[in-house]
Amino acid sequence: MSNNDEKSSYEGLPVSLDKKLGVPVWNDVRELKLRYRMSLGKIKKFFSALSEGKIMATKCKHCGRIYFPPQADCPYCMRSDMEWVDVPNEGVLETFTIVNIKPTTFSHYDDYVLAIARFGDGIKVLAWLRVDEKSRVRIGMRVKLTVIKRIPEGYYTFELEPID
Ligand SMILES: [Zn+2]
Repeated sequence: MSNNDEKSSYEGLPVSLDKKLGVPVWNDVRELKLRYRMSLGKIKKFFSALSEGKIMATKCKHCGRIYFPPQADCPYCMRSDMEWVDVPNEGVLETFTIVNIKPTTFSHYDDYVLAIARFGDGIKVLAWLRVDEKSRVRIGMRVKLTVIKRIPEGYYTFELEPID
């Protein structure tokens, strides 16, 4: 069957030939919207602290591993014996990317910097990096975690921010 035969046999349908896979694919014409609802469960303290301007992690009392975002259970020890700890004040930027082409649900934001920073005891934080000039972002720069209100939605979340 040639490509032309493939095309004509799907006349009037949202079907196209996927060039990479070499097979016809259905391109759904409906746009799906998903809204997650998740129980805060044992990490609800993270959110109440966030609304008070604090950013917290969980630490396993048994092995000492620290989790951020916080986890209620330690996957290494298979225990739920956790305590709340502050994220250290200063971290180091390990990597970043500037997002120019955004997912649909982020399309209303200006271009943003998505970064990973390491804080003290091996805590790695994935977050947006708040900077005035994206060209000044450098791997190795000192950063801190800060609570911000995401605009225009107006909810509290956290971002990385350079330490001057
Ligand atoms: Zn543990």
